[in-house]
Amino acid sequence: MESSNVLVIGGGIAGLTAAHELAKLGIKVELVEKEPFLGGHAIQFTCKAVESCAKCGACMAEEKLSNVIHNENIVIHTGANLERISKNGRFNYNIRLNHNRIDQSKDTGYSASADAVIMATGFEPFDPVKKPYGYRVFKNVITNLDLERMLKINGVAIKPSDGLPPDKIAFVQCVGSRDSKLSHLWCSKICCASALRMARVIKTRKPETSITFFYIDIQGSGKDFEALYQTAKEDFRMIRAIPGDIYKTEGDRLKITCFDNLSKADAEEVYDMVVLSVAMIPGSGTKELAEMLGIIPCATGFVKSCEKDEIAGSGGVFVAGTAGGPLSIAESITHAVKTAWDVAKYLKTRDQGVKGSGGLW
Ligand SMILES: Cc1cc2nc3c(=O)[nH]c(=O)nc-3n(C[C@H](O)[C@H](O)[C@H](O)COP(=O)(O)OP(=O)(O)OC[C@H]3O[C@@H](n4cnc5c(N)ncnc54)[C@H](O)[C@@H]3O)c2cc1C
Ligand code: SF4
Ligand code: SF4
Repeated sequence: MESSNVLVIGGGIAGLTAAHELAKLGIKVELVEKEPFLGGHAIQFTCKAVESCAKCGACMAEEKLSNVIHNENIVIHTGANLERISKNGRFNYNIRLNHNRIDQSKDTGYSASADAVIMATGFEPFDPVKKPYGYRVFKNVITNLDLERMLKINGVAIKPSDGLPPDKIAFVQCVGSRDSKLSHLWCSKICCASALRMARVIKTRKPETSITFFYIDIQGSGKDFEALYQTAKEDFRMIRAIPGDIYKTEGDRLKITCFDNLSKADAEEVYDMVVLSVAMIPGSGTKELAEMLGIIPCATGFVKSCEKDEIAGSGGVFVAGTAGGPLSIAESITHAVKTAWDVAKYLKTRDQGVKGSGGLW
C-alpha cells in the first residue's frame, strides 16, 4: 500500500496550482486526472492578444503545467478514475488506471492513502441541446468552447459547414446561466469577457466581419474589463434581448428571432454563424464524489470547502477552483493557493496533535 500526504482530484488549473503549492512546502502529493491530459478546460483556450495582451489568462495553464511535470514531490496519474474513497483515520482509496481507452481489459488498479484530499474537479459546460438554438442540429451553431478550440487551431473563425470565414456572427450570452427554468440562477462570471475578447480577435483578423451580441446585461470586473466593454460597444452591435428560436434558412444561414426590449417589437435577422456562451455548471461526477467524501453539495450542485464549516465533520476534505462555483483562471489560481495553505495548516495542526510537538516540515 502506497501513501502520500495529499490526494488532489482533478488536474485543471486549480489542481495543478494546489499540487505545486503543496510540493513547494515539501508535502508529497498524488494528482489524479480522469482525462488523458492535464490542464482541464483552460489548456484548450486560445491566446486573445490583439495589439497587446488581453489578460485572458489562458497562457497561465501552460505555466502551471510546467510547474508540476517532473516535480519530485508530485506523482501524476492521467486517465485515472477514483473508484472508491473512505476515511478511517486517513483517506484510503482505489484508483483505476485507464491505459487503453478502447480495450478496458488492459486497465490496472492500485490502492493508496492520504492525510487530506483536495477536490479540484472543476465544472462542465452546459449542454445547449436543451435550448431551442439548434445546437448539434445546425452545423454553424457552436458554443464559446468550440470557438476557443477553433481559434486555437485555425487562428480565425470558420463555418463548420464549409470551412469558410463567416461574414456575420451572433453571440448569444447567458445560455444556461441566470435561467430560472433550469434552476441555474447563477451568473457564470467569465462568459461576457471571454466572448468579447474572442470577438475582438475575430474582428482584428478579419475587420469586415459584422458581430452582434444578444445579452441580458454584460458582467465582468476590473479596469481592463471596462475598457474592453467600451471598445466592444463601438465595434459590435449590442442587442439587449435573448433570442427565442434559431431557424435554418437558405444557404446554411441562421435566422434569429427575438423581442427587442429597446424598440419593444419582435425582430428577426439572419447570420452565418451563431456562438452560444454556455454556462459553467457542476461536473456530472461532483455529486457522487462529494458523497463519497462526506460533503453535501450546495443547492447549486457546486461544493464548498469544509474550512468554512459548511460541511462540519468532514475534516481533511478541501475544495479548489471551480468545483466550488464559477471563477476565472486568475481567481481559480488564487483560490487554489489559499486552499493549499489551508491544507498545509490542517496537516501541521494534525501532525502536532499526533506527535505532541514539531511539524511535517
Ligand atoms: C468557454 C469558456 C471560456 C473561458 N474563458 C476564460 C478566459 O478567457 N479567461 C478566464 O480567466 N477564464 C475563462 N474560463 C474559465 C476557466 O475555464 C476556469 O476558470 C478554469 O478552467 C477553472 O479551472 P479548474 O481547475 O477549476 O477546472 P477545470 O478546468 O474544469 O479542471 C478540472 C479538472 O478535473 C478533472 N476531473 C473532474 N472530475 C474528476 C474526477 N472525478 N477524477 C479525476 N479528475 C477529474 C477534469 O477532467 C479537469 O481536467 C472560461 C470558461 C469557459 C467555459
Ligand atoms: S494572458 Fe491571454 S492574451 Fe495575454 S499573452 Fe496570455 S494567453 Fe495571450
Ligand atoms: S458572464 Fe455574462 S454571459 Fe455569462 S452568465 Fe454572466 S451575464 Fe451571462
